[in-house]
Amino acid sequence: MSERILVAVAWPYANGSIHIGQTAGAYVPADIFARYHRMKGNDVLMVSGSDSHGTPVTLEAENRGISPEEVFEHYHAEFLDCWDRLGISFDLFTSTHTENHTEIAQDIFSQLYENGYLYTKTMLQPYSEADGRFLADRYVEGTCPHCDFDGARGDQCDECGRTLDAQELIGIRSRLSGDTPIFKETEHFFLKLTAFEDELLDWIRPQAHWRPNVKNFSIGYLEGGLQDRPITRDIEWGIPVPLDGYDGKRIYVWFEAVIGYLSASREWATRRGEPDRWKDFWQSEDAKSFYFMGKDNIPFHTVIWPAMLLGYGGLNLPYDVPANEYMNLEGMKLSTSRSWAIWLPDYLDRYDPDPLRYVIAAGMPETSDSDFSWTEYVRRNNDELVATFGNLVHRVLTMSYRNFDGVVPTPGRLDDDSQALLDEAERRFREVGENLALCKFRAALMEGAMALAQAANRYLDRKAPWQTAKTDRIATATTLWTAMTVINCLKKALYPYLPFSGEKLHAMLGFEGSVADDGWDWSPTDLTSGQSLQKPAPLFQKLDEAIAEQETERIGQQR
Ligand SMILES: [Zn+2]
Repeated sequence: MSERILVAVAWPYANGSIHIGQTAGAYVPADIFARYHRMKGNDVLMVSGSDSHGTPVTLEAENRGISPEEVFEHYHAEFLDCWDRLGISFDLFTSTHTENHTEIAQDIFSQLYENGYLYTKTMLQPYSEADGRFLADRYVEGTCPHCDFDGARGDQCDECGRTLDAQELIGIRSRLSGDTPIFKETEHFFLKLTAFEDELLDWIRPQAHWRPNVKNFSIGYLEGGLQDRPITRDIEWGIPVPLDGYDGKRIYVWFEAVIGYLSASREWATRRGEPDRWKDFWQSEDAKSFYFMGKDNIPFHTVIWPAMLLGYGGLNLPYDVPANEYMNLEGMKLSTSRSWAIWLPDYLDRYDPDPLRYVIAAGMPETSDSDFSWTEYVRRNNDELVATFGNLVHRVLTMSYRNFDGVVPTPGRLDDDSQALLDEAERRFREVGENLALCKFRAALMEGAMALAQAANRYLDRKAPWQTAKTDRIATATTLWTAMTVINCLKKALYPYLPFSGEKLHAMLGFEGSVADDGWDWSPTDLTSGQSLQKPAPLFQKLDEAIAEQETERIGQQR
């Protein structure tokens, strides 16, 4: 039976370009997962959007002397272009700056208020006389009391990842004027997280399919005791509080951004002309929702958003939160402020999308931090994509094209060696699917698909069809047909990872339409003898090893 799968992907702040860390943390795994489930014939909805509100966007606007709208619109357009070029196949990538999102966020705010889960309280917030305003979140910086990092912000320390209260910052100063703020009383709405502690623990503890790091972190977070959190701010950019008397306040960006998963689903349904379709993913009991993000966002998705959903009522809680650890860069933690990052638009201007998707998936930080290096990128491209998979394809297709009149050869009786390879293909294809369903993307790729590609290469070396071509035409045809059948299996197994080269290979094998339409099943009979092949062309480009050094030197110099 077909399953309903919501693929909910972290919302990037529209205040800067996407970098490879975010790409590895959320976008590539989510896309692999969505493509797999679509091929399986499941009902998939993959949504996200630009997080267009909050102080990250307003600060960037003030730094550049333009409006927050202009900042958001610039990056929103850039994100859409990146998804297109990297093949991230959202069903909808919208933004939080829509009427639809505003209405839904305000509805949830109002319902939580009516249900008794929001209350107002006076608190102290930094206020600058020089700037003439309250300085919310990122408008103040200072030294982190936990790790001594001197660039910690009012809401969080980027160095140690801890959430902070502005009052904890040592040597607090305004990021606008450098002024030392005073702390002044202001009234804000608080989300009563304390009311959900036990319910959340009871929900998380039995989640046997969650990644241990996500589950343990969340349980530790809850056992440490929750505190009610302020969910409004004294700023002008963002979603207004839907109650009278709070004109100068906006809903905190994190509170409304997580609502984006729901509002985007509803927008998608409305755009399709089936306004109730979102309910299939949010209210239907058999629907499963998977949330993809980097580990810094775990508590928002395993604690805060579920608490909001419980308080609102009637909507599904996350089924799984397969958050990734960090993908570092050249042995060091990514830092956008120091520009220690590889920016996605810059990468896509100069290189192909599939090698990046591949290298990210092969080293995906599923259980611990991993590292991206250009040396590793070039090595994996040359040794694995070009030499293992690309070369297998090229050898087999070229020999068949030349020696068998450009068609899929007709095999003779299959010998044991050939049959064993087909059996292995069947087994590995099944394992790839099982691992993909469990969000084990690295294992599905390396232990499943790429191991099969290696086995096919070894088979080819044993059979040496380039020698038998002159002496035994039937044996040669059998070898090439067997190898090509396994290549057709690899095409499907690798398609969620390598959609662009997958389509090229699909056409070279003489198929029409898209790999995606063929479904997630494979049989040796999928490839028909006599089917016309297209003239083979290399799937991947070998890269000059000097690129590794040049690119490493380039890091930190962009933007
Ligand atoms: Zn810190």
